[in-house]
Formats: sequence, structure tokens, C-alpha cells
Amino acid sequence: MNETVRTGGCMCGAVRYRVVGEPLWVNYCHCADCRRSSAAPVSVFAGVREDQFTVEQGEATHYASSPGVVRSFCATCGTPLTYQSSKFPGEVHVLIGSFDEPRNFTPTGHVLTAEQLPWLHISDDLPRE
Ligand SMILES: [Zn+2]
Ligand SMILES: [Zn+2]
Repeated sequence: MNETVRTGGCMCGAVRYRVVGEPLWVNYCHCADCRRSSAAPVSVFAGVREDQFTVEQGEATHYASSPGVVRSFCATCGTPLTYQSSKFPGEVHVLIGSFDEPRNFTPTGHVLTAEQLPWLHISDDLPRE
């Protein structure tokens, strides 16, 4: 069986990664920490198992943004790439905008909507928590 392979990387091309197989979920995260680290009003992540995710070229820089949380980004161009937390052992949450073909994902839900910006309106019927 051929598994889907999705590739991505940072804006300057120094860091390239691949994800093999389908994501566990694709969520909008409305939390203030993700907002700050991506500098975007909302962040969308594909959650995958660590063994699905491989950096194939270059090396991301890691930053502990809060206890138990590590985010990675490209030190050259600043593109944020991943989120990992001790709350989600064995998972890598990959920022969807860094994939080469982000249109090939289907969001499955919204999390931390208590922190959602009041002027941001996304009209879908996905589960919200
Ligand atoms: Zn880069
Ligand atoms: Zn978040």
C-alpha cells in the first residue's frame, strides 16, 4: 500500500520535511501563544505521530515557549514549523501553512476557542472546544 507523502518547509528553503501517511487531525488553534509565535490571527496544525515526520534537509531551531512545550522554526527566515508538548507525547503538530500543498488537508476542529479573536469569523460546523 502506498502511503501519502506530504512535503513542506520554511520560506527560504533551508529546512525541508516530509510527513508520511494521514494526519491524526487538523485543528485550528486559537490560543494566544500560537498566535504570538506564528504572528497570525489563528494557527492551523496537522497533528502527526513523531514517526510520520522527518526533517530531510537543514535543521530547525527549537525554542521552549512554555514549560513542556517546544516550538521549531527556521533560524534563517523565521518560518515557524512545529509544536510539541509533553501533553501530547509522541506527536508533532505541524503548522499547515508550511506544507507545499496545504489545500490537501481537511480541518477537523477548532481548539481553545475561548481565546479566539472576536473579529475572526470562520463559518463551518466543525467541533469547537
Ligand atoms: Zn528558512
Ligand atoms: Zn495553540
